[in-house]
Amino acid sequence: MLGKRGAPCPHPWAALHRAGLINRVLAPSNRRLFGDRCPPISLSCFQTPRRIPYSEAIGQEFRPAKVGDSFGPTWETCWFKVELSIPPAWAGREVHFVWESDGEGMVWRDAQPVQGLTKEGEKTSYILTRSMKEPEPHSLTLYVELACNGLFGAGKGSMIAPPDPDRRFTLSKAELVVFNRDVYELLMDLEILLDMAQLLGEENQRSFQALYTANQMVNVCDVMDPSTFPAARDLAAAIFSQRNGESQHTIHAVGHCHIDSAWLWPYEETIRKCARSWVTVVRLMECNPELTFACSQAQQFEWVRSWYPGLYAQVQDFVAKGQFVPVGGTWVEMDGNLPSGESMVRQFLQGQRFFQEQFGRICSEFWLPDTFGYSAQLPQLMRGCGIRRFLTQKLSWNLVNAFPHHTFFWEGIDGSRVLTHFPPGDSYGMHGRVEEMLKTVKNNKDKGRVNHSAFLFGFGDGGGGPTQKMLDRMKRMTDTDGLPRVQISTPDRLFSALEKESSQLCTWVGELFLELHNGTYTTQAQIKKGNRECERILHDVEVLSTLAVARGGAFQYPASQLQRLWRLLLLNQFHDVLPGSCIQLVVEDALQYYAEIRRAGARLQEEAVQSLCRELLQPKAGNTESTLVLNTLPWERTEVISRTGPAGTETLGMSNLGVAHIPEFLTGAETTNKEILCLSLPWGGFTDEDGSIAMENGVIAVCLDVMGRLTSLRLVDSERESVPGGCCANQFALFDDVPLYWDAWDVMDYHLETRKPVTTLLKPLEITLAGGLRGSASFSLQIGESSTLTQEIILDATCPYLRFLTQVEWKEAHKFLKVEFPVQVRSTNATYEIQFGHLQRPTHWNTSWDWARFEVWAHKWLDLSEHGFGVALLNDCKYGASAHGNILSLSLLRAPKSPDAMADITHHQFTYAVMPHLGSFQDAGVIQCAYNLNFPLHVVPASSARCPPWSAFSVSSPAVVLETVKQASPRGRTVVVRLYEAHGSTLVAWLQTSLPVQEAVLCDLLERPAAQGRLPLEQRGLRLSFTPFRVLSILLVLRQ
Ligand SMILES: [Zn+2]
Repeated sequence: MLGKRGAPCPHPWAALHRAGLINRVLAPSNRRLFGDRCPPISLSCFQTPRRIPYSEAIGQEFRPAKVGDSFGPTWETCWFKVELSIPPAWAGREVHFVWESDGEGMVWRDAQPVQGLTKEGEKTSYILTRSMKEPEPHSLTLYVELACNGLFGAGKGSMIAPPDPDRRFTLSKAELVVFNRDVYELLMDLEILLDMAQLLGEENQRSFQALYTANQMVNVCDVMDPSTFPAARDLAAAIFSQRNGESQHTIHAVGHCHIDSAWLWPYEETIRKCARSWVTVVRLMECNPELTFACSQAQQFEWVRSWYPGLYAQVQDFVAKGQFVPVGGTWVEMDGNLPSGESMVRQFLQGQRFFQEQFGRICSEFWLPDTFGYSAQLPQLMRGCGIRRFLTQKLSWNLVNAFPHHTFFWEGIDGSRVLTHFPPGDSYGMHGRVEEMLKTVKNNKDKGRVNHSAFLFGFGDGGGGPTQKMLDRMKRMTDTDGLPRVQISTPDRLFSALEKESSQLCTWVGELFLELHNGTYTTQAQIKKGNRECERILHDVEVLSTLAVARGGAFQYPASQLQRLWRLLLLNQFHDVLPGSCIQLVVEDALQYYAEIRRAGARLQEEAVQSLCRELLQPKAGNTESTLVLNTLPWERTEVISRTGPAGTETLGMSNLGVAHIPEFLTGAETTNKEILCLSLPWGGFTDEDGSIAMENGVIAVCLDVMGRLTSLRLVDSERESVPGGCCANQFALFDDVPLYWDAWDVMDYHLETRKPVTTLLKPLEITLAGGLRGSASFSLQIGESSTLTQEIILDATCPYLRFLTQVEWKEAHKFLKVEFPVQVRSTNATYEIQFGHLQRPTHWNTSWDWARFEVWAHKWLDLSEHGFGVALLNDCKYGASAHGNILSLSLLRAPKSPDAMADITHHQFTYAVMPHLGSFQDAGVIQCAYNLNFPLHVVPASSARCPPWSAFSVSSPAVVLETVKQASPRGRTVVVRLYEAHGSTLVAWLQTSLPVQEAVLCDLLERPAAQGRLPLEQRGLRLSFTPFRVLSILLVLRQ
């Protein structure tokens, strides 16, 4: 005997009776759910490959269509014109328009969207009238907009397979029906009673009471005679109204519809998914004033606002009534690992500002139920954005370790804490069933500490969210002895209840690492690269534009253009786009957005530089052409710079006076004369017998073998060797990468057993640039069967790191390419950069928690240090990494085939660097070097007019990074600067600026001035107190 899902039934006796009851009453009743039927008077359609507005659609030529016809291919849209006439004999009856198709539909009536129809979301009815009145018009015309894709797109064979481009979608039902609500209510009663009978277990007398009640109902009820129904329903009401004791657990049910902003369908389809889902919710709210619906992602509100203004007005009404509840505070539900600290701030800034403008209030909880891990910096960022509460559930997907809490305080790297709740049912798409309520309580690991749980119900991703059935189930469980109390609630009510009970809660310190989907740090490398690059571009445009405004003149800060570009970048950080777990159509859109940011960013930067340095950019007749160097980072930089001359020849120079945020000017003559150290290539490279090459720049000395591998990496002064004897660093390795299911998402631990070093040489190492300010050597390798890699290893004068400029032609299937650096360092922990700080993770696999982190993420650098010495690995666009034992690995490329069969099959270019150092990574400047690698100096041709270096900002301590300089919006001459403590130390630092500051005030991340936040303007600048990893934002009001 089997219960649900094939598990042994805990209550065999109940199961037997349940079967009997189903035969006697449920099956015949179900057949009677709908009464009379009537086909449409006419049905016609027209098809288009584009997603067009209603007004354009209805003007097209419609051709006859019929039920049973199929439409397609995938991603097309069919518009149907449906003419209906309700038979007058149906007066007094509830009449539905029923539409069944495997595509996603939207009903339009009188030029407005009125109902979403998605079979997979149990949405197949549009209720025309609850009770047909005689004088109502009996004829009407509806339009149905049918998208040729399913709820989860159009995967060929499985959900996450690449879309089938030739899928057809069938219209299987289109008719008017009479709906027998009394039969429906009876069925709902029986469903709940039978679930109670079966699920509460033999030891619970309520299960027997429920079963006996159901049995009695069947005895008094004649399916063919509705007049017998009330007596049966009274029996059910009697048992549902038997109350719980005071101690019973309370479940806060909140309607929800998790809509991925793009995933197995493109962004454009998401706009329609939002409309279909939200209009369905609005219809449901009209009949159920108690229904609440939590809705995240400002971007989706913005989409509906601009594409469906009529619907948006209705949404606004329900927001005002407190039923439609905006949550989350972010622009999209972004990836929780990869966006930079500043990007995460902007997710909140753009989101909270939008919610404030549109609905008059900011969100008080961060909402990220479906993201693949959560940075340890998030608690501080939430607190800085007016948020003290956090809801997610994704850690229930952990493959190895069960997370020990459902309600707890989460403490970030700076010590900030937020109250965190995971809905204990482990889902954000519940259906309001008895089984789910019981699971919510049973599973709750903190039920001794708190007595409240969240329960998010509704179909996601275009499934239209909650259904009437879900609500009607829960109405019967409001307060019924034996079942948890179920209240329709809001996130605010839930968290307020949890806050009252929070005195005994546990605290989890550090990141919430998801032990799954660890391939998402690497998949779709071009998206990762676009993200890193565009974060840099917007940073630089903001710095340069702010300085251009501050320096006076007519320059206008490009606020609205920057907002548009930021929103594109933030959208691409959505949790299936930046992680690379989306279909090819989405990748194409995302890359286009990055191209747009690059294009517009270059123009904006050019305009800012023009304004900032106008008189220096015009070469005057007779003047030697010179070079202008702009540094957008807050420290001095001495670097080799390259400038391409008119004939395309590259000239190298040295920027030796870098000062914070300067346009800094050096003549060409000066730069070449300022060579500080000569790069030497003592063995003349390839002339050596074994083909090895040595390079040295006075800071580091390196020996490379013929395959470009480091056999030695030394600090010249200390003679300290980084590469262990017999080992090679910069060793490429290829792994078989075949996850169990989630192809683009997962890399499984067993891939590590398939390691194959890449050793097939195509072109041996040879010197490509033989010294002076820069030396380099190049080689090529064959990787796997059909991919190739070419690398230029570059050593610049005075530079403390060795760069690897890498090109890969990648044509693999289910392979993972990494580069490994075994280092002569022993430490049980490695350090990884995260947003505005860093954290440590173990280099061993002692416990299951350690081992589950075999593949982790980092931002611009990772480091392995022992006392007095360490080696750091820097990168310009990679995020996946690991440190096991003494081997640092950087994850370079994957080749998953689902949901994008072409993922990463293209040309790639990226740079990483290795940096040995004495002392700690903090004192050695690893953090600054990683910034330098990511933010190249801007080199602009200029006239030779001598110009003293100009610095806008400087910070007294190397522990403090000035990350952001932007205009505060909407204030015209107010600048926001954001700094963070990067070393993990407590200190006082002074911020100096040459800008005409008349007032300085501390503010939060939403740029709201802090009470008593006024900072005195002192001789040494602004005095700032930092604790480890503290982020500080300051408003600087400039004089006119
Ligand atoms: Zn999602």
